[in-house]
Amino acid sequence: MKKLVIATGNPGKLKELQELLNGLHIEVISQKSLGISDAEETGLTFVENALIKARHAAAISGLPALADDSGLCVDVLGGAPGIYSARYAGPGADDAANNTQLLQTLLPFRRSGIPLTARFVCVLVLVRHADDPLPLICQGLWEGEILPAPQGNNGFGYDPLFLVREKHCSSAELDRSLKNRISHRAQAMNQLLHLLRNTLSTL
Ligand code: IMP
Repeated sequence: MKKLVIATGNPGKLKELQELLNGLHIEVISQKSLGISDAEETGLTFVENALIKARHAAAISGLPALADDSGLCVDVLGGAPGIYSARYAGPGADDAANNTQLLQTLLPFRRSGIPLTARFVCVLVLVRHADDPLPLICQGLWEGEILPAPQGNNGFGYDPLFLVREKHCSSAELDRSLKNRISHRAQAMNQLLHLLRNTLSTL
């Protein structure tokens, strides 16, 4: 059976990726179980950071590795908070602090009536080995807008502020299983599944 290291310390992401790869006859190994620490995310883009994480895990384990990077990009902020989504209000900031920071930053734009369009982004990168010149790269985008105040209790992160236009509610008001079918992460994972089915023999 092929082996694949998942380059994340986040148990939720690990579980999601394990479930996705179920049925592909891949033995999924967490980087934590191999004693691999998190890589330093020094890139300026989602794809760079996902690549850094995947390469780091592949270099240390000697195995193919899969990593992800995700966040929220707001158009009037030039794509911020972007790769800094998890720590927008400062190092160690929690979801509530990041949401407050985003609402405050957007206040002048909202008062001017500028549309606050935004998207969630998820990039998945799989390298067959640390020097792989042709990584598998998948990018899921979920389009929406930033609401004036938090709505809903499901999900995490910026979900209470993210208006899913076609559903007329925030992503924190969506049923979990529906979010998991349409989100940026679901889109990137579907792309990966498709690519993997065609390239499994090259792992
Ligand atoms: P990372 O991918 O673990 O670096 O974290 C990305 C950050 O982006 C999270 O901490 C959240 O703040 C935000 N984020 C990514 N995906 C979602 C989502 O599905 N809902 C809400 N926030 C998200």
